[in-house]
Amino acid sequence: MKDSFFANTELIGLIGHPIKHSYSPFIQNYTMELMKLDYIYLAFDVPSENLKNAMNAVLALGLKGLNVTLPHKEKIIKHLDELSEEASIIGAVNTIVNDHGKLVGYNTDAYGIYETLVPFKDKITGSKVSVIGAGGSARAVIFNLLRHFKPEEINIINRTHQRADTLVNDFSVKMRYDAFHTFELFPPDNVGTLSTSKLIVNATTIGMFPAVEDSITDIDESFNEDQIVFDLIYNPAKTKLMETAEAQGAKVVGGMQMLISQAAKSFELWTGVEMPISEIIEKLEKYIIKSSSL
Ligand code: NAP
Repeated sequence: MKDSFFANTELIGLIGHPIKHSYSPFIQNYTMELMKLDYIYLAFDVPSENLKNAMNAVLALGLKGLNVTLPHKEKIIKHLDELSEEASIIGAVNTIVNDHGKLVGYNTDAYGIYETLVPFKDKITGSKVSVIGAGGSARAVIFNLLRHFKPEEINIINRTHQRADTLVNDFSVKMRYDAFHTFELFPPDNVGTLSTSKLIVNATTIGMFPAVEDSITDIDESFNEDQIVFDLIYNPAKTKLMETAEAQGAKVVGGMQMLISQAAKSFELWTGVEMPISEIIEKLEKYIIKSSSL
């Protein structure tokens, strides 16, 4: 870590609630040190009722920008001056740039999802896909699928049916797509929907540390060798869902690549400098092993 900080040091923050387990401070501070940039990145636990005050603080104290995480990615929008195209369509922001007093919101999760799925583009295009979840990340997944991958049909499976319907209505209008189907998350009923999907994406918090034994389904028949299963969760690196799907021959991908790619894009927006991704992944993996053994 840096020896000292001086009057010119720029501050970047992360706001969320809770915030304790985030890897972003490690990723960003390590990269800034590696690239010899005079920045520091700090995490702030900000409850929802303090979002407006937090934005005033960004402006008053001249922070360069922020990352925004759960549960604020949607609620933060009304406190910003401008949105990028993808943040506006998705309806969620995970990165803010303080552009000389104007707060501009971006969604770099979308870039992380694109980077993760692009190796499978040929398989996804023209196929049936299933997305579990209807929150901010599910919206970033749907944006990517429609903008870059052109699936034939998208199933949205969510615990709260109303939220899935709202998502479908929004994207039908914003991106002019009408091949959506919505289902409630109820594993015995979802087998047919999942087993006929070429891509299955988990964009829920189910299976995330510490509830690592949970899964959106443990029904083996949901999976097969002709599928890609992408779980956005990065802790644990291999979720219960990924274990079940892999045992049935599916190709599985976790959320680590997305985590690094979204961080790299945010870093670039604040500093104009490219993140050396492979070096950071190597360092982060060591950090995760070390911090989970403490
Ligand atoms: P969110 O907006 O809060 O949405 C959460 C989703 O999970 C909703 O669909 C919610 O369903 C569902 N859910 C939560 N608890 C549930 C339960 N007990 N049973 C059934 N469904 C449940 O969160 P988000 O920002 O989209 O994040 C979703 C996941 O993506 C998280 O695991 C997060 O860690 C991961 N993520 C990863 C990265 C990365 O870089 N790899 C980046 C962002 C997010 P309801 O609508 O019914 O509440």
